[in-house]
Amino acid sequence: MRIDVVTLFPDMFPGFLDHGLPRIARYKGLIEVHLTNFRDFASDRRGTVDDRPFGGGAGMLLMCEPVVLAVESLEHGLPAEERPLRVLFSPQGQRLDQPLVEQLAREPRLTLICGHYEGFDERIRTTLDPLEISVGDYVLSGGELPAMTLIDAVARLQDGAVGDPDSVRDDSFSNSEKNLEYAQFTRPRVFREQAVPEVLLSGNHAAIKAWRDEQARAKTQTRRPDLLAPDQG
Ligand code: SAH
Repeated sequence: MRIDVVTLFPDMFPGFLDHGLPRIARYKGLIEVHLTNFRDFASDRRGTVDDRPFGGGAGMLLMCEPVVLAVESLEHGLPAEERPLRVLFSPQGQRLDQPLVEQLAREPRLTLICGHYEGFDERIRTTLDPLEISVGDYVLSGGELPAMTLIDAVARLQDGAVGDPDSVRDDSFSNSEKNLEYAQFTRPRVFREQAVPEVLLSGNHAAIKAWRDEQARAKTQTRRPDLLAPDQG
């Protein structure tokens, strides 16, 4: 999978890409990440990418030309069927969740467009017709953290990225019931008078599975009832 990030701050990415799972997925050749600074596509020598909004109001808006040219430069010469899916980060977009991550993880190629300041001139949207994605109902100063969030989430779903595929399958939102994950314990058996539940030490796999299923269901019921009845959420 190839991911291009179109950003004003490519230097924010190396620390993230060079550690943990993103690093492993890159070294195994499962994902490839390229960074493009859209300031390089500004039409003046100062590299201007933002300007004041028509009609007044606070802040600066990203201008059409640098963003659109940067995105199009990544697609020159590509036949239509090989063009990347364009993703633009915005608090006004579709909320990122595990089903959407699973869908995006199957794309051969993504272009992730990171905003800044007050966001994008509306014609960037109408010209590029991207999928707009939000990471939640709060406002960040830029699209770089959402881009890293998405890269991390799709990288760990690539075949071979995580050592034991079962660990991904049992995760919250990913298991067959779409529940939260059950409570987990490791050594020591007792920590500050809190003992690990006896059933987990029993070696009885059926009993362990039943306990975990019940734990997951109860936890989801208490914390996220919307997951159990999404239509009534
Ligand atoms: N004025 C805009 C917010 C701009 S925030 C509005 O009110 O809708 C600046 C940039 O940060 C955005 O263009 C987007 O790329 C990114 N960003 C901020 N919050 C985000 C969120 N919740 N999800 C995804 N991207 C976000």
